[in-house]
Amino acid sequence: MSQSSSQIASQAFSTLNLKPELLENLTTMCYESMTQIQAESLPPILAGDDVIGQGKTGSGKTAAFGLGLLNKLEVKRFRIQTLVLCPTRELADQVAKEIRTLARGIHNIKVLTLCGGVPMGPQIGSLEHGAHIIVGTPGRIIDHLDRNRLDLSHVNMLVLDEADRMLEMGFQEHLDAIIEQTPHERQTLLFSATFPEQIKSIAERIMYKPVMVKVESTH
Ligand code: ADP
Ligand code: MG
Repeated sequence: MSQSSSQIASQAFSTLNLKPELLENLTTMCYESMTQIQAESLPPILAGDDVIGQGKTGSGKTAAFGLGLLNKLEVKRFRIQTLVLCPTRELADQVAKEIRTLARGIHNIKVLTLCGGVPMGPQIGSLEHGAHIIVGTPGRIIDHLDRNRLDLSHVNMLVLDEADRMLEMGFQEHLDAIIEQTPHERQTLLFSATFPEQIKSIAERIMYKPVMVKVESTH
């Protein structure tokens, strides 16, 4: 029927103004259509708005912010333009992996993970070589900031993934200290499975007129 086919058509990634390489990679990844949270959050993300995305585990939040940050990235500017904060090393590794897959074939995009539980030496070496995108956990990011090894002054996209878990784990002060090091004129995306008071208050402090996207289904 015409209504359902137009609904399906409107969920195609090709309806978005994405870099052609990203669309090609989505096809290779067999991402045929957007999940609901992607369909609702990507238009405001690509328009440059701050976005709060609330959706269950498995709803496809990583690709929502991953496509947003990769579409915005200027590959020729070799500066840290994007910072993604995750609660644990496992999640940071998963997020970095998905971003690298989405970015495949886009010339020389460098994604660096900075997490606790791994030796400092190689991380310091990698940092000296530079990156476009940092994905990390708050504690280790603070360690590098405290030792002046990390320059966040060119960040124009900040992502808090699983913000509720980061707050539950007691990262509030670390988050505040990290965010303070990023420019005011940035785009901020906050993803969370739940939306307790503490998240509302952090969103009020760090976001500008955020668009709220709340999705129940995982498809
Ligand atoms: P969340 O962060 O919301 O828990 P993920 O981003 O980890 O969810 O995505 C869950 C799973 O769905 C992953 O295996 C991912 O590869 C897959 N996925 C995400 N978006 C799509 C899509 N548009 N089409 C098909 N699979 C998708
Ligand atoms: Mg996730």
